[in-house]
Amino acid sequence: MNPTRIWFSIAIVGVSSVVAMGQARPLPGADLQQIYERLLPQIEKIAAFDHHAHPGFAYDPDVDAMAAPPGSVPFRERDTNPELIAAAKALFGYPYDDLSPEHAKWLTQKKAELRKQYSGTAYFDMILDKLNLERSVANRAMMADYLDAKRFPWVFFADAFMWPFDNRQQRSRNPDEEVYIPLQEKMLHRWMQQEKVSKLPADLSSYLSFVSRTLEDNQKKGGIAMKFEVAYFRTTRFSDPSRQQAEAIYKKYVAGGVPSPEEYRTFQDYVFRFLITEGGRLLLPVHIHSAVGIGDYFSLTESGIMNLENILRDPRYKATTFVMIHGGYPFEREAIWLASVKNVYMESSYQEIAMYPSEFSHCLKQWLETFPDKITFGTDSFPYNEVLGAEESYWLGVQSARTALAAALAEMVSMGEVSEARALAMAKAYLHDTATSIYEGNTH
Ligand SMILES: [Zn+2]
Repeated sequence: MNPTRIWFSIAIVGVSSVVAMGQARPLPGADLQQIYERLLPQIEKIAAFDHHAHPGFAYDPDVDAMAAPPGSVPFRERDTNPELIAAAKALFGYPYDDLSPEHAKWLTQKKAELRKQYSGTAYFDMILDKLNLERSVANRAMMADYLDAKRFPWVFFADAFMWPFDNRQQRSRNPDEEVYIPLQEKMLHRWMQQEKVSKLPADLSSYLSFVSRTLEDNQKKGGIAMKFEVAYFRTTRFSDPSRQQAEAIYKKYVAGGVPSPEEYRTFQDYVFRFLITEGGRLLLPVHIHSAVGIGDYFSLTESGIMNLENILRDPRYKATTFVMIHGGYPFEREAIWLASVKNVYMESSYQEIAMYPSEFSHCLKQWLETFPDKITFGTDSFPYNEVLGAEESYWLGVQSARTALAAALAEMVSMGEVSEARALAMAKAYLHDTATSIYEGNTH
C-alpha cells in the first residue's frame, strides 16, 4: 500500500460523510443542472484574486515588456468574438449588437466619460469592483500612475538580464525575435538607468550585484514577484553551467562581439539559475510563462512546460516559489503533476480564453481532482485595441472562469466525488486563498 492509499483510508474512516457518499460515479446525475445553478451564484460572490493580468490602456506600451507580432489568432481570441459585445453591454450598457465604427465610437466616448467621473486610479478600481475582483496582479514593464498599487500588485519582468551582449544573431532568428529582442534590450537599459549603471559592469560579479540590486529595488517599489516570458525568446531547457563558464563568456563579450548561440545559451542558463536562486533569498516568487505563445514562430517543442521539470524538481531551489503562468497549456494535463512539488503552483489564465467554458471546465476538473490546493485563477486581461480594452478582457476572463469552475464542481458533486460544501471550499481556494497565501508575509 502506498502512502496515498494509507492517507485515503484514514480519511474515509475519519470523515463519515465521505463513507456515506460511497464510490464516485462515472456519469453525472439528473441533478447536475440544479447543482450548477446553486453553485454559480455562490462562486460569483467570492471576491477573487486575479493572479495574472496586464491591466492598462491600449495606448500604454508598458502593459507588457514585449509586443505582439503579427500572427494567427485562435478563434475565440479574435476581436470579432461576439462575447466581447456582451462584455461591453454588461460593463458599460453598450446598446448595440455590433461594433461598426460609428457604434464603436459610442463605447470609446462612454469610457472617456467614466474616466473623467472616476479620475486617477478610481477607474480601474471601479472595473475590479464590478467584476468582484479583490485585486489583480499587474504584470507590466513598469507600473502606471492610473493603477492603484493596493488593488494591482506589480509583477515585474526579469528576462532582460539574460540579453546583455550584442544580440545581432539572437534577433535574426525569425521576424518575431526582431520585435522581441530590441524590447529586451530596452528593458535592460531601463533597469540600468534605474540603478544608475551607465555601462555593463566589467566582470560577472559586479553584473550579478547589479541584477540583485534591481530585484531588491523593484521589491521595495512594491513588486511581489518576478516574471519570465523567456519561452518567447529561447528554449526553456536550462543546462547547469559552472560559474567559471559564465565568467569566461561574460569577460569575452562584455565589451563587444557576437556570442555564438551555444555561448549565449550557456551564459543565460547560468543567469536564469542565479535569478531563481535570488527569488528564494528575497522571498520573491518566480512567475514563468509556461503555455503556447502568440506569434507564428513560438516553439511548443522548445518552450513546452515539461522542459522545466529539471528546474522545478531541483532541491537547490526549494526556497523559491514557482508559479507556472497559464498552467502549461496545451500540456496542462501533464503540467498539473509538477504541482506535486511543494513550492510549485499552477495558474490557469489564458486557458479560460483560448478554450470556451465547456472545454476549460474539463481541464479545471482534472486539476481540481489532482492538486486542488495548488491551482490559482487569473484572467490574462490585456487591452485588445482602442475600442475593446482590458475592461472587456477582464469580463471575459472572469465570466469564463467562474462559469467553467461552477460546471466542473457541479459535475464533481453530482458524480459523488466531493460534497457541495467541499466544492465551495475548493472554489474559494482556486479563486483567492491559494494565491494570496503565496504572498502573505513575503516582506522584508
Ligand atoms: Zn500574460
